[in-house]
Amino acid sequence: MASSSSSDMTAICQRARPEILAMAGYVSARSLQLPGSETVFLDANECAFEPFVGASGLSRYPTQQPAQLVDSFCRWLDVSSRNLTITRGADEAIDCLMRAFCIPAVDNVVICPPTFAMYAQSAMLQGVAARSAMLDSNFGLDLAAIEKAVDANTKMIFVCSPNNPTANIMDAGAIQKLCETYADTALIIVDETYIEFSDQPSSIAKLDQFANLVVLRTLSKSHAAAGLRCGAAVARGDVTSLLQKVLAPYPLAAPVMQAALTILKPENTAKLAEKRADIVTRRNGYAKEFAKLDDVQSVLPSDANYLLLLVRDAADLCEKARKSGIILRDQSHQPGLENAVRIAIGSAEEMQQLLSVLAGENPPALPAQRRFSVTRKTSETAISVTVNLDKTAPIKINTGVGFYDHMLDQIAKHGGFSLELECDGDLHIDPHHSVEDCAIALGQAIRGALGDKRGIGRYGFFLPMDESLVQVALDFGGRFYLDFKADFPESHVGDLPCDMVPHVFYSLAEHMQANLHIAVTGENTHHMVEACFKGFGRAFRQAIRIEGTEMPSTKGTL
Ligand SMILES: *Cc1c(COP(=O)(O)O)cnc(C)c1O
Repeated sequence: MASSSSSDMTAICQRARPEILAMAGYVSARSLQLPGSETVFLDANECAFEPFVGASGLSRYPTQQPAQLVDSFCRWLDVSSRNLTITRGADEAIDCLMRAFCIPAVDNVVICPPTFAMYAQSAMLQGVAARSAMLDSNFGLDLAAIEKAVDANTKMIFVCSPNNPTANIMDAGAIQKLCETYADTALIIVDETYIEFSDQPSSIAKLDQFANLVVLRTLSKSHAAAGLRCGAAVARGDVTSLLQKVLAPYPLAAPVMQAALTILKPENTAKLAEKRADIVTRRNGYAKEFAKLDDVQSVLPSDANYLLLLVRDAADLCEKARKSGIILRDQSHQPGLENAVRIAIGSAEEMQQLLSVLAGENPPALPAQRRFSVTRKTSETAISVTVNLDKTAPIKINTGVGFYDHMLDQIAKHGGFSLELECDGDLHIDPHHSVEDCAIALGQAIRGALGDKRGIGRYGFFLPMDESLVQVALDFGGRFYLDFKADFPESHVGDLPCDMVPHVFYSLAEHMQANLHIAVTGENTHHMVEACFKGFGRAFRQAIRIEGTEMPSTKGTL
């Protein structure tokens, strides 16, 4: 990867604000990497203890660019650390660039509307003019318009690719041309916030060729972490050094660093890539659905996780959605757009709701659904589970224990409810913690979803027969009891230890606050275990069914 030291500063860097070039940069208490664990730090007025039991790493200032996080960003973006600045989101990178390069009341930047509003906002805050070079009729870069807008005081040209809000990716040839034309005079800032949703390569690969190229990335959209405030600017070494002079001495809070490290673990990024692929597939389907609506004139092609709709009356359409509790973004105020609405691709449920609202289907107000989510994190497992007792799909289960997934699937299918459960557990030790903790979290979610239990059937029972026979009796009476009778001939079914089966039902019954009796006989362990889960599911289905509006108890409460 390209590099340069201050001695061979490129022409573009000499365009930075003279006072920034001249300043030494704040030497913070953590400007030097920690030399070793034995070092005693008495230099920053920190306290030598943590603020609460269980806290770790909060009492000390973090380094400006924590080495561990830098490593993982470098792997993600395939860059060298000398080209990387990690920031509080891409927004902070924009702001730092503005402050490092643009002299207030003298310099200007060029933006290409309709585009992301923060470029002009940051410029305004720095007292810098934002000159517009409108995108062409296909929302591509108009190089002639940019040339017209640029003058001797233009320090930066912002290219948003894929562009927010028009959703299209910009032509790589046009970006390259900009880098060449303004090689010594203006930074070309390529904002790639949404690049992971497109199939085009990042401009980062061109850093070797262009000293004036800066690429912005962020965990906010592509990695579902807008709440984290963590992004990066990728640039040549001399630009990077200038940026870090302007950046706060401790921009990255310790918990942010920990969460970002978790997000960027390979096993997690693989999951995120799957989720992005799902968004892209659904996006393409929704684009066709939106296009069919009477109010919609066209849906622009998208390389991002949102769609821009050109409509008859944007305010009217947004209001229609708002009345049903769905907030869309009217983009009609943008130069070059009139009556345009931007729609982020939400969950399948949310999008279905939006589509039916916009189609004018006035579905009778659905009764409140018995839906509940639980997240549970210990040193052994991290689990998130969502149940919806009034829907049968989706059912998505990943506990890491294959046979257990199959068994929980039986509960949801036969119970007739939607269950989404993901567990990241210490399977390298054994399945025990994952199996038990999933049952606890599932029990809690069911208990939460049942609410005050008004109208439910309450009791359930079932006698399925194979060569195995199981009896399940279940009462959501509010008191926990488990009676489990089984004599499994084998110690394991698949990867699930049989002694975990009573554990699962114990945890479920305890956390659902239910009375559960299960008795199974048979010869084949697989059948016997499966019969318990199926039978439980069936009993559960009967017990949770809404049969009226009464409290199913003479006491008036459960
Ligand atoms: C959302 C968005 C950002 C902001 O990113 P953060 O990392 O959350 O600050 C930057 N650029 C574009 C084009 C965006 O849409």
